[in-house]
Amino acid sequence: MNILILGSGGRESAFAWKIAQSPKCSQLFIAPGNAGTSQYGTTINVKVTDFAGIKQICLDHAIDLVLVGPEEPLVKGVHDYFLADDAIKHIPVVGPQAEGAQLEGSKDFSKQFMQRHNIPTAASQTFTKDTLNEGIAYLATAGLPIVLKADGLAAGKGVLICSTLEEAEHELKEMLTEAKFGDASSKVVIEQFLQGIELSVFVMTDGNSYKILPEAKDYKRIGEGDTGLNTGGMGSVSPVPFADADFIKKVEDRIVIPTVEGLKKEGIPYKGFIFIGLMNCAGDPYTIEYNARMGDPETESVMMRIDSDFVDLLQGVAEGNLHEKAFSISPKTAATVVCVAGGYPGDYMKGQVITGLDNMRGSQVFQAGTALQGEDVVTSGGRVLMVTSLQDTMFEALQQATADASRIYYDGKTFRKDIGFDLI
Ligand code: ATP
Repeated sequence: MNILILGSGGRESAFAWKIAQSPKCSQLFIAPGNAGTSQYGTTINVKVTDFAGIKQICLDHAIDLVLVGPEEPLVKGVHDYFLADDAIKHIPVVGPQAEGAQLEGSKDFSKQFMQRHNIPTAASQTFTKDTLNEGIAYLATAGLPIVLKADGLAAGKGVLICSTLEEAEHELKEMLTEAKFGDASSKVVIEQFLQGIELSVFVMTDGNSYKILPEAKDYKRIGEGDTGLNTGGMGSVSPVPFADADFIKKVEDRIVIPTVEGLKKEGIPYKGFIFIGLMNCAGDPYTIEYNARMGDPETESVMMRIDSDFVDLLQGVAEGNLHEKAFSISPKTAATVVCVAGGYPGDYMKGQVITGLDNMRGSQVFQAGTALQGEDVVTSGGRVLMVTSLQDTMFEALQQATADASRIYYDGKTFRKDIGFDLI
């Protein structure tokens, strides 16, 4: 079959790497891709929100399946666009329709969904400009620290953890009355702070049945020891040692099944991935957030551990027979180290020539913020590339990925050398 992947990051490079290995994939296309995606298929420079352009690719290349990487086209309705157009409605899209993508696109929607289906999560209430005074009164009764979340998409920046009441009141006012995060903060969810260790669990569903993909832990902060500013993600590890079979069973019974069943009961069609951000609070899982797509840089580690044919699984999602598909996971450990541009996550350098991509001794490089300049691969984004290694033990995987990350060169290169070492 001919497959089109939408997106341009490390996540999409990892999808492409995995899909290109499948005997079921005849031709692979990636839009808009990056400097590295041409290793796996044909890169076409069309933006993920250019739905007419995406339709044209499907028609020109007889695409049989579209896999959507990032959230923006999902929330903007790329799947709905396909269903509404006679010329392309027969092409299955893996990724939910806009309604299902609200699990990620609106924190108020997702919290209410969790409450309706008794899915464990932090206590919360939602406020708007009109209910600002009630919000301030609620803050006074809630404990500290307290979490304030802009309802809409805010590029991972819309969550504030406030340690004093004054700070919380000030931020709430800024979000609701000064549009601190634009439209995204026209509603604010005020949420109880959860103490625990975070991890991410990924579910693939055809709307009826599901498969739980390997779980992963990601490292969000720029600095070693998880310090400094938040980033899109500096590394990931899978499996997560504290997520043993008992813990994952709790996640399945208390969160995964009620989520898939809840969507079904509410008549919300959902074919795609559900990323569940969790807090392990003294052995019990609590849902922090849903995302309507896979995470980045978790996908890189997760794809490495899926032994079964990923295209067969995607077909199962598309055709509604996921439960019949073979599914096996490698017991080995995958570790991903992200190399970022100098200055990231603030203003960062661009256009630096990258060398050493062929120097890997036991890792796979997934490119992300890269572009071609003549013959050269140059940096073009904040997160430049991901180095992922799959090894028998966690120590070996971490050591290999870290060593290989240091074999790549460009001006200003930064990466964390402590990814995963807290787990050993
Ligand atoms: P991202 O896109 O980076 O995952 P987001 O903007 O969608 O983030 P959340 O995942 O809901 O927002 O929150 C971001 C981070 O804030 C979480 O990964 C977690 O570290 C912290 N956080 C969120 N909610 C809570 C909570 N209730 N208690 C403690 N920490 C929390």
